[in-house]
Amino acid sequence: MYCRVIVDIVHENVAKPFTYRIPEGMTLAAGQRVSVPFGRMEKEGVITEITSECDIPPEKLRDVIRPLEDFAAIPPELMALAAEMSAKSHCPPAETLRLMLPAQMRGGRVRVKTERRARLAIPDEEAKALILKERKGVKRARLLEMLMGGKKVSVRFLAENINDPGDALRKLERDGIVVLTEEEILRTPTEFYAENQDPEYELTNDQQEVLEEILPKLRDGGGQFLLHGVTGSGKTEVFMHAVRETLRIGKSAIILVPEISLTPQMVSWFRGRFGGIAAVIHSRLSAGERYDEWRRIRRGEARVVIGARSAVFSPAEKLGLIVVDEEHESTYLNDRHPRYDTREVAESRCKREGAALILASATPSILSFARARRGDYMLLEMLRRVQNRPLPEVQVTDMREELERGNNTVLSIAMREALKECAQKGEQAILLMNRRGYNSFVSCRKCGYVVKCPHCDISMTYHMGYGADAGAGRLKCHYCGTEMNTPGTCPECGSRHIRYFGAGTQKVEEEVRKLLPGVTTARMDYDTTGTKDGHGKILEAFRSGQARVLIGTQMIAKGLDFPQVTLVGVVAADLALNLPDYRSRERAFQLFTQVAGRAGRGTKPGRVIIQTYRPEDPVIGFAARQDYRAFFESEWLRRRKGLYPPFTALGRLLIESSSEGEAAEEAEELLRHAREILQAHPDWEKKVITMVLDTPSVKMLRGKYRRHVVIKALKSAETDHFFGELTELAAEGKDRTEIAFEVNPTTML
Ligand code: ADP
Ligand code: ZN
Ligand code: ZN
Repeated sequence: MYCRVIVDIVHENVAKPFTYRIPEGMTLAAGQRVSVPFGRMEKEGVITEITSECDIPPEKLRDVIRPLEDFAAIPPELMALAAEMSAKSHCPPAETLRLMLPAQMRGGRVRVKTERRARLAIPDEEAKALILKERKGVKRARLLEMLMGGKKVSVRFLAENINDPGDALRKLERDGIVVLTEEEILRTPTEFYAENQDPEYELTNDQQEVLEEILPKLRDGGGQFLLHGVTGSGKTEVFMHAVRETLRIGKSAIILVPEISLTPQMVSWFRGRFGGIAAVIHSRLSAGERYDEWRRIRRGEARVVIGARSAVFSPAEKLGLIVVDEEHESTYLNDRHPRYDTREVAESRCKREGAALILASATPSILSFARARRGDYMLLEMLRRVQNRPLPEVQVTDMREELERGNNTVLSIAMREALKECAQKGEQAILLMNRRGYNSFVSCRKCGYVVKCPHCDISMTYHMGYGADAGAGRLKCHYCGTEMNTPGTCPECGSRHIRYFGAGTQKVEEEVRKLLPGVTTARMDYDTTGTKDGHGKILEAFRSGQARVLIGTQMIAKGLDFPQVTLVGVVAADLALNLPDYRSRERAFQLFTQVAGRAGRGTKPGRVIIQTYRPEDPVIGFAARQDYRAFFESEWLRRRKGLYPPFTALGRLLIESSSEGEAAEEAEELLRHAREILQAHPDWEKKVITMVLDTPSVKMLRGKYRRHVVIKALKSAETDHFFGELTELAAEGKDRTEIAFEVNPTTML
């Protein structure tokens, strides 16, 4: 017998499977990992197929060395998924297969953990008799006592109670009185948050109606849904019921969340209700814990998996349901190689494995909503909050008027009043400031010079010092981390009028502290959450009520449920609206609506204030009215007119080099090449609307000069082919330039 093996090397020449002979007496299966000879090396690989046919001459064939596990690590459905992803994204199968396994399994960096255990080989009565007879060995007697009752006891536990039991145990084993075994144990992570018991709510009408659609389809092994439920409509409860039904029919469920650290509540609810049958996968697990959770899932012991995007590849046994919560989040796009969209992967799995798919959000992505309208998904709506709680009231303040009135601080008069009132009533507030640091940039009042990062062509952000360093502020680059002291005089003209402009989270926090002396604030941004469990601590301080005002970047908009929050402020709405990207309006709408949804989730009604210099912008209006449908229609029209995705496909060849000349040259070369491809395929060329070579708005990043070729083309099979060729072109690369090709890239900066 023979097997075909994808060897774990990412190189174009190794992209196809190699055939090996299976030695006599070895049984292997597709999906199993094996060690094989490769050139003069020994390599790991995954079996794609077992076959009795082979047209390679026997003298050229080599034997499989050994299996790496005694079971197929990758089940057939995931093998098929890896093959599909490889074909679709034009990347070698070795790379997509890696997605299907915990990273540390490769190269044997993680092992099964075992524990030595002892048990009696004789009945308790005999042991009792022995204990009575025992004269010299007190230790022996105590060991026998501890082992009575048919228990298996770990040697570690015995050693904690009896000094140095090793020799005595070995002697007992030799005498046939005790059996020592090496047994596998699982490192199951314990979470830092408490488990919650099932609240057993009575379902709302909306929840009930939605479940009446989902459950029958789920039982039949299918159904694709887009659940549009406003913030606080109780979507999580719908997931729980769907999961319970999935378990009842003997299947497994995968619940995907944008970022596990931001959804501790969801996790604790699931743990509380489903206990050990739930596995939670997140980035803080140790390699061993991750591996053990994976094995629990692979064996079918854990049948509810909760995790971020990579959990979509969990080897859940008899998959019955995948939920993608907050499906609009950009974290579901993996922009590192191999690129994938978690929602597409989930959909493909559900179709292949006969499972129901639920995409859920208060602000569905334009793409998903359009697909629901087209009938690809069944649209389910929950447009009311639970217990008839009102949606928060939204007020827009015009910051231009504030300036006219002589208020040049970052907080409008209305915001100040509302914050004071909120503090007086002992309630809590959340302020969104979508830029970290103290000031956004430092510039010269006289000549206009702006301090930029020497490696990135991006303005440096001013950060305040803390503690002993207070006052000693530093400039930081948010792209590459470079830091420098703030210049005392302008490096261009020598003027001393070099000042800070624009506010960041630090500045907002300072303003709030000035306004509300004695009120504790908490700040949540990239700078304060870098440490292990940074998120958890900040959220806990806010949940416990110790901190009354939470200031943060978009991190705070996600899925949090704090019943005491009655005021939400968007400090600088324009920041989100003005990014040079066709999706910035969609993202801004989502951000404002999501953050507004944090207000009034308890019994007290909520209030939202959006500060802007452009109150006439329709996106501000849609967000203020929380009118998703109207926003969707307007955005859909704009995209159709402007020929943006999903009406077209955008492709971007990004060229980066430490030499500006080389970046420019290579870009020209690639453009020429792309044109040649089109000339050879007139039918492809017809689909291309524009193809331009340009300098991206960030022209230098981490010391690399950048150019890009942006292609806008009609969505079609021809465009797919063209983009496929460009992907391969990019993969060839060049020594000193980095080239990447992305379809609908996550950012155009
Ligand atoms: P969403 O995710 O839709 O924003 P959640 O699922 O977080 O909303 O639910 C909002 C709040 O309502 C939570 O505190 C939840 O415990 C509560 N809740 C959910 N369903 C019900 C119900 N049927 N009756 C009462 N409270 C509910
Ligand atoms: Zn100057
Ligand atoms: Zn930089």
